[in-house]
Order: sequence, then C-alpha cells, then structure tokens
Amino acid sequence: EPILSIRDLYYVYGNGQAALEGVSIDINEGEKIAVIGSNGAGKSTFFLNVNGVLTSKSGEIRYRGTIINKKNLKELRKNIGIVFQDADNQIIASTVRAEVGFGPMNLKLPQEEVIRRVDEALAYMNILDFEDRPPHYLSGGEKKKVTIADIIAMKSEIIIFDEPTAALDPLNAEMLEEILSKLSMEEKTILISTHDVDFAYRWAQRVLVFCQGKIIADGTPLEIFQEE
Ligand code: ADP
Ligand code: ADP
Repeated sequence: EPILSIRDLYYVYGNGQAALEGVSIDINEGEKIAVIGSNGAGKSTFFLNVNGVLTSKSGEIRYRGTIINKKNLKELRKNIGIVFQDADNQIIASTVRAEVGFGPMNLKLPQEEVIRRVDEALAYMNILDFEDRPPHYLSGGEKKKVTIADIIAMKSEIIIFDEPTAALDPLNAEMLEEILSKLSMEEKTILISTHDVDFAYRWAQRVLVFCQGKIIADGTPLEIFQEE
C-alpha cells in the first residue's frame, strides 16, 4: 500500500487562480522524489495540499489508506513536514531550542521526550552550539538547519523540501545536499522541488514533472532527463 495516494486533486485559490488541475499519484514509503517544473506549475500548491495547510474541495488524499478529512487533518500534519523556501516565515520561537521543541510540545509529549527529541534533532543537524541563540539572528544556512531540525524533532514520516537551495549561497547549498544525502539513508519518504537538474539526477530515484497544474511525466531520472 502506498504511503500517499492522491486522486484527481484540484486546487483553485481565492482569487480564482487555478493551481492544480487533476493531480493523481501514488507515493511509496521510502521513495526519494524530485519535483520539477517551471515557476507557477503548481509544485508548492501540491505540497501545501499534501500536508494539509491548504485543503481542496475536489479530489482525494489517502495517507496509509485513510482518506484525509477535516477531522484527521492533524494526523496528516504531524506525519508530513514541510521545510519552506523562506525560513523566516517558519521560525517563531525566541531561541533555537524553543523553536525545535515547539512541534513536539504541541504533540503534548512528556517533557523528557520533548527534551530527548530536541537534543537528537540538534545533534543530527550539528547545531547544538547555538541552541540558546535567537534564530532570527542566524545566517540563512543556519536558519535552514533549524527548520530541518524542527521536522526531525517531529519524527515526520514524509519530509517535503520546497526549493531548499534557492536562497542559499553555493557553500550552504553544498552543506544542504550533504544533509539530504544523510536523510536519504533513512526510511523517510522525501520530496524535493528543485530547478537543479543535476541535483535531481544525482539524488532522486523518481522525478515528477509538473506543468500547468498537472503531472505530465513521472519516471526515473534517466527516463525523465533523456526525453528532455
Ligand atoms: P487565498 O486567495 O486562497 O485566500 P492566500 O491567502 O494565500 O490565498 O492569498 C491571498 C491573495 O494573495 C490571493 O488571493 C492572491 O491575490 C495573492 N497572491 C499570493 N500569492 C500569489 C501568487 N503566487 N500568485 C498570484 N497571486 C498571489
Ligand atoms: P510553483 O510552486 O510550481 O512555482 P505554485 O503552486 O506556487 O507553483 O503556483 C501555481 C499557480 O497558483 C500559479 O499560477 C501561481 O501564480 C498561483 N498561486 C500561488 N499561490 C497563490 C496564492 N496565494 N493566491 C493566488 N494564486 C496563487
């Protein structure tokens, strides 16, 4: 059974702009997927629907076989984490430790479990050093690490990265790719939107091509990039 199963997903923004026009896809547990397509193709809207930030009036999303509705949306959000392009819009707390602990605290986990998860996530991202610093004063690359630590502390089964290297300098982009390789070795299902074809080729097992709100191609990097 796929971890995510999406059928005939449509999404129209409040201003009448159609962003998804019939997306159907099965995603299996542990897959490493690159999502490509030009600006405005619907990649971000797709991600936001998948993790329940946006909810569509038309179409169906199943998570491990269960249809997502308003009542179980919380479950979906817990298991599907997004690392947004702009870390500043995602960071809310006044220290790195509080920021990374925010999600687990919201799950109402016991205090010791929250501390354990935050320690683990900070160590995984190699940012224990600045646990007491205010996240807003960190560099772009450091902020990115904090937002990834947020998701790791949540133990999300699916991790989505929306153009993770877009705002980073080459050194930080390289650092990020190392983190992605490390994450890839775990059981996690990972989706990454990117304009970097070389990266998609190196990293992904499967590539989805979005165009005008639809998935127009779905295959291995070899299949997808040979045709282009
Ligand atoms: P909604 O329109 O569904 O309430 P938002 O609250 O996200 O969606 O956006 C509010 C308004 O901002 C939209 O109606 C639209 O006019 C504008 N907007 C934001 N982002 C975009 C975009 N990428 N393209 C076009 N319009 C946008
Ligand atoms: P991508 O991530 O591939 O660049 P998006 O999902 O952001 O694509 O955009 C899909 C379509 O929806 C585009 O036409 C875009 O302008 C529009 N759009 C995105 N966000 C909004 C919004 N908040 N309000 C209105 N239209 C939007």
